[in-house]
Amino acid sequence: MYYSRKKPMSEPVHEMTPIWACTKEGCNGWMRENYTLQETPTCSQCQSPMARTTREIPVLTGSGFGLKTETKK
Ligand SMILES: [Zn+2]
Repeated sequence: MYYSRKKPMSEPVHEMTPIWACTKEGCNGWMRENYTLQETPTCSQCQSPMARTTREIPVLTGSGFGLKTETKK
């Protein structure tokens, strides 16, 4: 049995995340809903209205999660 010592800690986790996607055909502009300040944002690339949808994108982990609480003595 193959045993890997390396734990895939840095493996990005993909999760269905609410986003705003550009409604214009051919434009792939989109932004995370979390990062959107306006109620109905417009595309930063073509100024078209954006529609709310979900997309599988890497989850941003990092500060504020409290996982790095290793106590060394
Ligand atoms: Zn656009």
